[in-house]
Amino acid sequence: MIVALDVSKHFGPLKALDGVSLEVARGEVVCIIGPSGSGKSTFLRCLNQLERIDGGAIWVNGELIGYRREGDRLHPLSDREIARQRLASGMVFQRFNLFGHMTVLQNIIEGPVTVLRRPRAEAIADAMALLEQVGLSDKRDSYPAELSGGQQQRIAIARALAMKPELLLFDEPTSALDPELVGDVLAVMRDLAKGGMTMIVVTHELGFAREVANRVVFMDNGRVVEQGPPGTLLSTPTHARTREFIAAVL
Ligand code: ATP
Ligand code: MG
Repeated sequence: MIVALDVSKHFGPLKALDGVSLEVARGEVVCIIGPSGSGKSTFLRCLNQLERIDGGAIWVNGELIGYRREGDRLHPLSDREIARQRLASGMVFQRFNLFGHMTVLQNIIEGPVTVLRRPRAEAIADAMALLEQVGLSDKRDSYPAELSGGQQQRIAIARALAMKPELLLFDEPTSALDPELVGDVLAVMRDLAKGGMTMIVVTHELGFAREVANRVVFMDNGRVVEQGPPGTLLSTPTHARTREFIAAVL
């Protein structure tokens, strides 16, 4: 489903990604852990083309993203083509980024109606099913400011799902939440994983990673240091750097 090969990304002289290779199969849940500044968010943003990579290549569903190959030359894709490719992945951020002037329902149907050109009635029916799925049917007419952080994050997940992505990217979706609100959001994510959604989740919730992930990836300094099944990577990591990190988070 996703193949990232030797991906690099610089910000000026800083190498935020330094040769990252990672494959994710359809239906797989991969958790990425690692210290602050290790390139986790940058990697997700490259997968979603919020950033353009400057080395290596990424394929989503066999399609090279961001570039078109002609012979042995690569040409950057047009904004329109990039917008089309970006629809394959939905992204959920640490800060929920809901539209504050729109109700919950309006937030969820905005993309389907304006971008996918879905009939409004259909978009609303879908949105109601998604609200049910995240346990917030009674909040359809509320504004984001009237919701708790955990509720806002569940709406953000519903909004991402409304675009029918093949893949969901989560960047520390529970880090901004009060501890008692984390569980509800993780429960929604756990259900999505069980339903077969392909997910890449940057998180410090090692309990979630242990229980839900098929694979855990440890990044440091813009590189993948090691990866493996959660039981192995979290309990008996190979590298000292991974051990130190896990000990510090637990
Ligand atoms: P955290 O756990 O704190 O979220 P992270 O692993 O997500 O960290 P990134 O946000 O990917 O780390 O950042 C990787 C490196 O790239 C950092 O050194 C960061 O300062 C730098 N960086 C990220 N985005 C930019 C940007 N837009 N401009 C300049 N430097 C950036
Ligand atoms: Mg980050």
